[in-house]
Amino acid sequence: LSDRLTGIFAKLKGKGRLTDADIDATAREIRLALLEADVALPVVKAFIARLKERARGADVHAALNPAQQVIKIVHEELVNVLGGEARRLQFAKHPPTVIMLAGLQGSGKTTLAGKLARHLKGLGHQPLLVACDLQRPNAVNQLQVLGGRAGVEVYAPQPGNGVGDPVQVARDSIEHARRTMRDIVIVDTAGRLGIDAEMMRQAANIRDAVQPDEVIFVIDAMVGQDAVATAEAFRDGVGITGVVLSKLDGDARGGAALSVREVTGSPILFASTGEKLEDFDVFHPDRMASRILGMGDMLTLIEQAESAFDADQKEKMAAKLMGGQTFTLDDFLDQLIAVRRMGPISNLLGMLPGMGQMKDQLAELDDKHFDKVTAIIRSMTPGERNDPKIINGSRRLRIANGSGVTVMDVNQLLNRFADAQKMMKQMGPMMGMPGRRKATK
Ligand code: GDP
Ligand code: MG
Repeated sequence: LSDRLTGIFAKLKGKGRLTDADIDATAREIRLALLEADVALPVVKAFIARLKERARGADVHAALNPAQQVIKIVHEELVNVLGGEARRLQFAKHPPTVIMLAGLQGSGKTTLAGKLARHLKGLGHQPLLVACDLQRPNAVNQLQVLGGRAGVEVYAPQPGNGVGDPVQVARDSIEHARRTMRDIVIVDTAGRLGIDAEMMRQAANIRDAVQPDEVIFVIDAMVGQDAVATAEAFRDGVGITGVVLSKLDGDARGGAALSVREVTGSPILFASTGEKLEDFDVFHPDRMASRILGMGDMLTLIEQAESAFDADQKEKMAAKLMGGQTFTLDDFLDQLIAVRRMGPISNLLGMLPGMGQMKDQLAELDDKHFDKVTAIIRSMTPGERNDPKIINGSRRLRIANGSGVTVMDVNQLLNRFADAQKMMKQMGPMMGMPGRRKATK
């Protein structure tokens, strides 16, 4: 996906603003890319429609090229769909709060039950785990092991008490929780390998028996196109208030996150990231968006470019050049400092598509070089900075000594500056400074 997008954006690079044709071409490619990440087709379609709308009306940030601007919009829209800010669990006004887990077999419900219990206990709650999966022979035992690790009591059927009837166990567990002053009840349920009417009925019956405050749908992040059908079945069969994505430690891109979020409209509350109880985190929409896009480095670069960009400074410079004023060594220094604020130059270039291999050669251009140039300019008097022509041999020697470099270094800098000044003179009256793009409305 990353390679594909890099390809698209290379095509866009260098254009001044986004045209409708650009947006359409890009949208087609992003559509394919999302499908590759296993986002379900109808979800992709809806997403692309919104993306086009936004891209057409968008201002192009002056610090970004159009390619970067598109990535930024795609990323923001992904974060939006995935839920913006993360939501917390809803607690009941009158304890106990009841949390019911639902999902296909193997999706990670029982594991999540243990993780939630541990997490909530750590927050000072008194949870009770309830074993309502009586279908798999080992399911009760599995929950008891996890409860033991979390240090949380497990309510399970005993002989003569609800054996074989998960609805009865669920109902009794609430009574037990009240008696033993538990403030949270976590109900683990059975799943099937596929969606099946009997399983859904049983889940609905358990729901009716315990009146949950949250029904959490657990889904394996590795499932692809099936995510939509499964989420719809649970949405309609039991009703979902929240989602947990499990197995995010795998290498799946996690397109299912987008599909489920779109289908259920319910927030993704947590991420399950391993088999151990600690492998658990609140869900971060921004991280998930980056993962689905597979362009973490590019996104970092965009953020840095934006933060380093000093709009005022650029505008001042443009005004100055438009007014026919000269580009001075002070301006040159300002520009260097603005670039430096973005971090080591070899890092920045390393993040650009195709530039990674050049990192070593670029190291030469790096920090030390900038420090040297900065030192030289700072050793000059204001008069010299305004009008470098007055810098004769003895001044060059004084500047070199003052900044700890050789006269040759000073000469090199002055030559380079003369070139830059010439270029600015040509560009200034023509178009001011680059980067002053207007919205493409
Ligand atoms: P259930 O059938 O829905 O209760 O699923 P389980 O909780 O029994 O999990 C099924 C399998 O997936 C078990 O082997 C778990 O150890 C494993 N599992 C659950 N959650 C995760 C996770 O987040 N990451 C990984 N790598 N494995 C998980
Ligand atoms: Mg289970």
